[in-house]
Amino acid sequence: MTRYVQPVPAPDDPYAGDTLLRSWLERQLGAAGHAAAKGRLADLAADVAGPLRAAHADAEAHPPVLVRYDPWGARVDRIDTSAGWRAQRAAAARHAVVALPYLESARGTWGAAARVVQHALLHLYGPESATFSCPVAMADGAAALLSLPEVDPSVRDAWLPRLISTDPDTAITSGQWMTESQGGSDLAGSTTTGRPAADGSWRLTGEKWFCSAADSAMAVALARPEGAGRGSRVLAPFLVPRYAADSPLAGAAAPYAPAPGVRVHRLKDKLGTRALPTAEIGLRDAYALPLGDPAQPGLVRAMTLVVVTRVHNAAAAAGGMRRGLAYARAYASARHVAGGVLSSSPLHRATLGALAVDAAGAFVLAGHAFALLGRVEVGGDPAAAAELRIVAPLAKLATGRLAVGSASEYVESFGGAGYVEDTGVPRLLRDAQVLPIWEGTTNVLALDVLRAVSREEAGPPLLRRLDAAADLARPLSPALADTLASATAELRERLAGVAADPQSVAVVAGARDLALRLAHTLTAALLVEHAAWGDEQAELAARLWARRWLRHEEIAADAHHHLELLC
Ligand SMILES: Cc1cc2nc3c(=O)[nH]c(=O)nc-3n(C[C@H](O)[C@H](O)[C@H](O)COP(=O)(O)OP(=O)(O)OC[C@H]3O[C@@H](n4cnc5c(N)ncnc54)[C@H](O)[C@@H]3O)c2cc1C
Repeated sequence: MTRYVQPVPAPDDPYAGDTLLRSWLERQLGAAGHAAAKGRLADLAADVAGPLRAAHADAEAHPPVLVRYDPWGARVDRIDTSAGWRAQRAAAARHAVVALPYLESARGTWGAAARVVQHALLHLYGPESATFSCPVAMADGAAALLSLPEVDPSVRDAWLPRLISTDPDTAITSGQWMTESQGGSDLAGSTTTGRPAADGSWRLTGEKWFCSAADSAMAVALARPEGAGRGSRVLAPFLVPRYAADSPLAGAAAPYAPAPGVRVHRLKDKLGTRALPTAEIGLRDAYALPLGDPAQPGLVRAMTLVVVTRVHNAAAAAGGMRRGLAYARAYASARHVAGGVLSSSPLHRATLGALAVDAAGAFVLAGHAFALLGRVEVGGDPAAAAELRIVAPLAKLATGRLAVGSASEYVESFGGAGYVEDTGVPRLLRDAQVLPIWEGTTNVLALDVLRAVSREEAGPPLLRRLDAAADLARPLSPALADTLASATAELRERLAGVAADPQSVAVVAGARDLALRLAHTLTAALLVEHAAWGDEQAELAARLWARRWLRHEEIAADAHHHLELLC
């Protein structure tokens, strides 16, 4: 008897095959702007489908190892990573995945929309980067923080060019040392302290509990400056060189040695993100450079970094959903069930169609956050800043939850093969689960949304966008326009309730539901905006999204009929 071997086709080219990505770029950048980005995007897509897919598999198969001592007993705290991880690092630099929005040439070509192009790069790069997308996010966050005018120019000049280098030989990434074991969400309990040294540098002492990308050349660490008092607002960001070569305290120590006072206790054994070294790190009078004046409340400066990493998280969620869909569709086109190909089963098509609607929604939500970020950074657009204040947590929390639900479906869509490690499919679920946790859990972000509404008047800009989208939807579909208008009316009332009594038990207990409702309604509005520009796929996705997430209706029949258009 011949042994049956399942043929598995490769998914489409991630750029050429993603019609929504392409039309989004056409609208956001204009035809000339999109044309200027095509070469970059096609090059990255080709790399992803070839060497980077292999590097991703290698990095997953060979997780990092902490080498604490050299053969002679000297403490080295070196993190050995795989060839695949190093290939991902080089590709991130070469394709300017971090650097693009900081490059003069990119700003000259695309202006504020350089962030839109960066989002497209992340959408292609992230899903099969073995979560190198994490150091990419933190390097970008650190670069944004170093770009602030409050930062000492000599510190900026020494480190920013390396963070945004496109030369793999000189490019570095950054860690972000915030979480301590007594509290990640609750930074007020941070006990890491900073004291000034005579030369203007500082010395940090404390314990950091989750330090991802611990192989990076630097980290941004939060510490409480000596005498600063309690609470989280006074915590200040410091740049800590991770290696002796970058630390003036190191003397003649070998370049691979940790900076004096920086100890890597151990690497975490995690559910997912296995190629990514996440360490527990101890600081004992570690050399550090202040990022801004430590005498001024510093959490607000650190938030520059956090906003960037949150929108990256949304990009990672949306990109992963889209790639999961591509893999599931490729598999369904090869797998035979009940006498036919799986991709012709109305039930399976409906399942994939609903996932395609979710992927489209996550994409436009993440894309909108990047577009706003660009407008804030280039030209300091106050309207964009007001909207980004609420869109960053909303995009992060809603896409994180969608990504976990979708990943579970993608694993199931492969049947038993989806549960078998060396297919690479189980990783989709493991790696999705981190998305609602790091950079703020769903509930913690929902509370941040309440603060944005009650203290920073973030509701009105959002409501204005929703009102406008309901008008735009009217000529497309009266039912869609009515759904948007009634969801917006409900939200207006709920936001007024938040503003009136933000601490009430009902408001706090309902924060997650409110945040998700805001995010889902905003997503419908963003799909409508893209549909009104003339995109047929977005119009269908808007109608199905509104029925699925705003009216909680079954969309199976439409999802089945229109699967090809939705993808
Ligand atoms: C793989 C991985 C990598 C990470 N990398 C980094 C890193 O590089 N740098 C870094 O600084 N951190 C990192 N983290 C830490 C991460 O940011 C924190 O774990 C996260 O912010 C949650 O903090 P916590 O672990 O203290 O959980 P807690 O804050 O203790 O949360 C526990 C539960 O309580 C809920 N909760 C907390 N506060 C409230 C509240 N006020 N009201 C209602 N519910 C609440 C949360 O939603 C959660 O469900 C990483 C985490 C993971 C899993």
